[in-house]
Amino acid sequence: MSTRTDERPDLRTTDPSDQERFAHIVYSKGNAQALITEASVLGFPVEALCGKRWVPSRDPKRFPVCPECKEIADALRGRGGAG
Ligand SMILES: [Zn+2]
Repeated sequence: MSTRTDERPDLRTTDPSDQERFAHIVYSKGNAQALITEASVLGFPVEALCGKRWVPSRDPKRFPVCPECKEIADALRGRGGAG
């Protein structure tokens, strides 16, 4: 059984300067992974679902998912329709 999907609308990433050390979820209509990679290389901030803005790290580590991001992402997936 494999329930993996090739494309994901969001990607978890972490803020190295954040004391809480949560893995926030970034949402993008296009390729979220490409967006985060570009942001980490060029050094511009991205915005997480919970509203947090920061420059993502190039080496995201395994942290617990931000509860706010997780809740919002779950709601977005539940819709599944066009805006
Ligand atoms: Zn968050």
